[in-house]
Amino acid sequence: MDMQSTVEEIVATVRPLLRRGDVASYIPGLANVSPDKFGMCVAMSDGEVFGAGDWHTQFSIQSISKVFSLALVMSYDYDSIWRRVSREPSGSAFNSMVQLEADQGIPRNPFINAGALVVTDRLLTLTGDAAHSIRGLLRSESGNPSVDVDRAVAASEAQHGHRNAAMAHFLASYGNLENPVELVMENYFDQCALEISTEDLAKASLFLARHGVSAGGTPFLSPNQSKRINAVMLTCGTYDAAGEFAYRVGLPGKSGVGGGIIAVVPGRCSVAVWGPSLGPNGNSVAGIAALDEFTTRTGWSIF
Ligand code: GLU
Repeated sequence: MDMQSTVEEIVATVRPLLRRGDVASYIPGLANVSPDKFGMCVAMSDGEVFGAGDWHTQFSIQSISKVFSLALVMSYDYDSIWRRVSREPSGSAFNSMVQLEADQGIPRNPFINAGALVVTDRLLTLTGDAAHSIRGLLRSESGNPSVDVDRAVAASEAQHGHRNAAMAHFLASYGNLENPVELVMENYFDQCALEISTEDLAKASLFLARHGVSAGGTPFLSPNQSKRINAVMLTCGTYDAAGEFAYRVGLPGKSGVGGGIIAVVPGRCSVAVWGPSLGPNGNSVAGIAALDEFTTRTGWSIF
């Protein structure tokens, strides 16, 4: 298969969908992104990279950062995090608090905001600077030392982060935060505001396709840890539309409200797509269509 032509054709196919849905506006710092952008990159496990569209343009990583924070925590601290966060799909919105009281302050999974706050808190304890560690991982795995936080987006999130603040305080009330709420929030907003291109994101996600092996060729995670993260991405990575994502795409994936999505074909490649307009569940409409098209054309769904 000619992968470069395949990626170019997919990008052309999804262009008519770019204005379906809405660019996230609940974080004002994200609202000005053009809905007409679209980028796609496939990074093969042997290091070859194929891209099309706006694949070099940087965008806000948002919730995709939650994969990297979880991977870092697991790399330091095999699985003690699972005493503080579950790994079941929530069936609720990413920023929902309704289950948290019934579940005694134990978030349903590490990819909803409540769970991600707990993971960031753990990473803070382990490294002293969670956002910095995530940035370091993105830089080293992508090979791009200029990956950084968009300060305007981070400030905008902090200014409008009442819901996340409420969640963090609620977690603290159950004793499920080890660090001061303000410090956890600051790190969480910074990690969500990291800017990255689809090229760098596909490269940075490759360790999940290479059974935990880092860009440098050394083990970052064990094959088993990599398997487990991919499993949580499959069941919980695309908000309360994980069933729909499995049905259409059939790969472990993680989306963010910046319009990015990563998907992993274990043993083969990682894929990053970016289209800012989001459907009702917060996933990029064109991004999901592109990944659907990708697994249909390549036959590389895990199913
Ligand atoms: N920073 C966003 C928030 O906490 C992340 C949401 C997302 O991408 O799902 O609301």
